[in-house]
Formats: sequence, C-alpha cells, structure tokens
Amino acid sequence: MISKVKSAMSSLVGGMMPHHHHNQHSGGGSGGGGAGQTHGADGLPPRFPYGRPDFLELTPELLQYSTEHASRPVLTLKRGCRLPWGTGYAEVINAGKSMLNEDQASCEKLFVKKPSGKHRNSTLLEDNGDGTGIPIHFWGVFDGHAGSGAAIMASKLLSRLIRDRLGEICHLMENPDSAPPICLTKNGSPYEAESKKGVTQEPEDPDAVSDTTLRFHMEKVVSLESLVMGVIETAFKQMDDLIEKEKTSYAISGGCCALAAIQLMGKLYVANAGDSRAIIIRNSEVIPMTNEFTPESERQRLQYLGFLRPELLGNEFTHIEFPRRIQYGELGKKMLYRDYSMTGWAYKTIVEEDLKFPLIYGEGKKARVMATIGVTRGLGDHDLKVYSSNIYIKPFLSCVPEVKVYNMDENKHGPDDVLIMGSDGLWDVTTDKDVADAVCAYLSCCDQSDPMRYTMAAQDLLMRSRGVLKERGWRLPNDRLGSGDDITVFIVPLAGYESET
Ligand code: MG
Repeated sequence: MISKVKSAMSSLVGGMMPHHHHNQHSGGGSGGGGAGQTHGADGLPPRFPYGRPDFLELTPELLQYSTEHASRPVLTLKRGCRLPWGTGYAEVINAGKSMLNEDQASCEKLFVKKPSGKHRNSTLLEDNGDGTGIPIHFWGVFDGHAGSGAAIMASKLLSRLIRDRLGEICHLMENPDSAPPICLTKNGSPYEAESKKGVTQEPEDPDAVSDTTLRFHMEKVVSLESLVMGVIETAFKQMDDLIEKEKTSYAISGGCCALAAIQLMGKLYVANAGDSRAIIIRNSEVIPMTNEFTPESERQRLQYLGFLRPELLGNEFTHIEFPRRIQYGELGKKMLYRDYSMTGWAYKTIVEEDLKFPLIYGEGKKARVMATIGVTRGLGDHDLKVYSSNIYIKPFLSCVPEVKVYNMDENKHGPDDVLIMGSDGLWDVTTDKDVADAVCAYLSCCDQSDPMRYTMAAQDLLMRSRGVLKERGWRLPNDRLGSGDDITVFIVPLAGYESET
C-alpha cells in the first residue's frame, strides 16, 4: 500500500515533465512549464507543492484520481466535513488542456487583530484561530493559466494579506455603531473625527495638518466601507508583488484570475480581477456581483497604455483596432478603425504603421492581448512574454480588482438565497439565468436540514457545465459541447450568516 501511495505521489508531484499547452487564457509560450514539477526551469523549488484545497482532505490516491482527464471525476466536500456557513463546493479537472487542475480555491474564517509588531510575512500562514478579534469569512476562486504556481500561492496567502491589512484599521472597526466618518491626516493615517453634516474637526494632535489650504484638500470624509475596499485593492497588489519577489527564490509558474468574497461586519465585499464570476440569487432573482476583465472589456485601457508607451508594443503591435488584419496592398486606402478614446468606429487612411499586428485581436473568448492572453486582470504572469519575442505582457495586465459591496444586513435571506462563485469553466456554457433556475430548482427539492444540500447543488451545477462523455467529447443534454476547462464552484448560503456570526 505504501509503495502504491509513494508512486502515486511521485508521479503526481515529482515526475511530471514540463508541459506545454495552449489553454483558453494563454495562447503563447509563457515559460510557465509544468505545474507539478518539484523544481522550476531554474532549478528552484516550488513555493507550495501542487495539491487541491485542504478542506477536501484528499488522500494521495484521491489526489491522483482527481487528475484523470478521461473520466473527469467531480470532487466535493466529504460528508461530515463542514465549511463556514455550510458553504457548498465542487470542482472538476479540464478535459486535457493541462495536466493538472489549474483552478484553486480557499474558504476560511479568520480573525482581524491589531498589528502585533511581529514581522508580517513570518506570521502570514498562521491562522490566529484563538477566536479573538473581529471575524471575517473568506472565499476565493483562483483560475490559473500556464501553470498552477501563482494560483496555489494566492489561494494560501491572499486571505492572510487582507486580514493583516484589515488589522491596520482594526481600531476603526471595533466600535462600528459609534464610528463617525473618518478623515485622513496629512500623513495618510486615519483618525476619527466628530462630524456635523460632513464638516469635520481636526483632532488635538500637534502633528496634524495646520495649513488651512492643505487641510481643505485633505479633509475628505472617507467611509469605513471604502477603507475596507481600499484594503482589499491594496492586498491584491501586495499579493502580486509578493509573487514577483518570491519568484527569485521559488518556482511560481504562470498567473491566475482571482475572485474573492470577504464577509465583514454585515457586508459582503466581492473582489474580482479576471474572468471568473460571482452572482447572488435572492428570491430567485440574479444580482450580478462581478464584471469580467477581458481584452474586449478593457480595450480602451489597454489601447491607451499602448498609445502612451509605444515601446511596450516592441515595434510589432499597433494600439489601433481594425475590424480585420490590414493587407500590404491596402496602404493608402480607407479603413474602419477604433482608437483608445472611441466607442464607435470611424474611417482612417491606412499608413505603414497600421500593418502591424493589433494589440487586441479576436472576438469573445478568442480575443487576445498581443496574441497571447485572454484575460487582462489577475495575479502573477511576471515573466509572460509574447511568443518568441522579448515583449512582456505584464505591463498590460492589472492586478487591481473591482470591488462590489452587498449589504447583508439590509436584506432578509431565505435558505435558497445564495452567493455563487465560479471560474470561467462554469460560465462558458451557461447563463446567469440558467444557473439561477437550476440552483433554485435543485434547492427547492432538497431537504433543508441536509448539511450537504449546497455541496450537492454545486455538484449539480458543475455537471451541467461539464456534461457527460460521449463519442464526440463532453456533451450537454442539448448535444452542445460541454466546458473543457477546469471548473470550480462555491455555493454560499446567505442565511448561514445569521446562524453563525
Ligand atoms: Mg478557466
């Protein structure tokens, strides 16, 4: 038995060869290599070994089993294993585009405390679970590409970075009912001020801003909610910087889209950088909680950067968009185009510069930045280059999430009201409405006292996107192609909040 386990582990973790693939996100040679190798191309050890989320409690045999592309087994929480709020979870590997499942997930309850003065990174992995401090709940979906290194690292550390940064505003959160609007002093540290109709008074602090003109500009009233949003935004940046820094000592392959939900003091903050998606279903109605960031949705930002810094395009790409590639023989002719400032199309005369490959090319899921990547926000990808060139993609990628806030306390939730978070593998072949209808139908037939009901609903949802294996690949009931991507789903019951916190 032990030798069987050993061989399972060695073939999974140690024996995998660097694996080149073209997945939906990354079309070019990214240098990411195999996700599971023990050492990267530079002989560096992995930052974290390949694995599935800890809460699945997989044995080495099950871990091996989870990688079988031919059968694509669905992994769910074990009966008896409970996530915060009774959260449901299911995942499945792709149909063969990469050797390992490049999605990752995390779900945990953490406690925010004032900074203790210890060196931050040394305490990052501690879960400070002694039950004191302000509780937060965290759910994360990380969709990796060109390797799973960045996704695994983000799934282990992003929640901790957010927790530690929240610690810095802990004193403002401890007494929320009496918390007045917050002002920022000259040095940027928040202080609490008494407020009357937005007019704030300076605290009795000799170091506080004394120049009246400057004070006029500095005394903007900042809500606690927007401070939390700022914490989340800066924690994403910190996570991205940490990946870059640790790449000098560890093999951290690829990059990842990051979707995180953080529940804190009656509010749910949903932060998204990439093309994963979250929706709330309340009274059978869909409330979208994310926008996707793709070459098409971020066209103007990308074009503007290419316009401002043409050197980033390496003399090979043009920031101007045309409906199709321009042929040499079309020089001097008129052609439709779109620049960074435009939503509509206009005509221009073709010049030599326009013959270069477009910065953004392709439509829908096939749209790419510099013919390489299909998502424009996420973490990692620091060494991703255009295939056989020295042009880096990273300057065009943003690690900053869009954060949306949902006020849990302002709404009453029934047992069938849920937050659904999924990687793009779930959503590629289905609509929000179909997902909502399927989940509502499933939950309404499911025993409300069954602790597995949300996991079973997640499994049902996942199967609807994966389909079943037929002679011509994975097929949905209507015979359309099922999703061949890695699929990850959380279903979070919003009424679980009332019973647990
Ligand atoms: Mg995906």
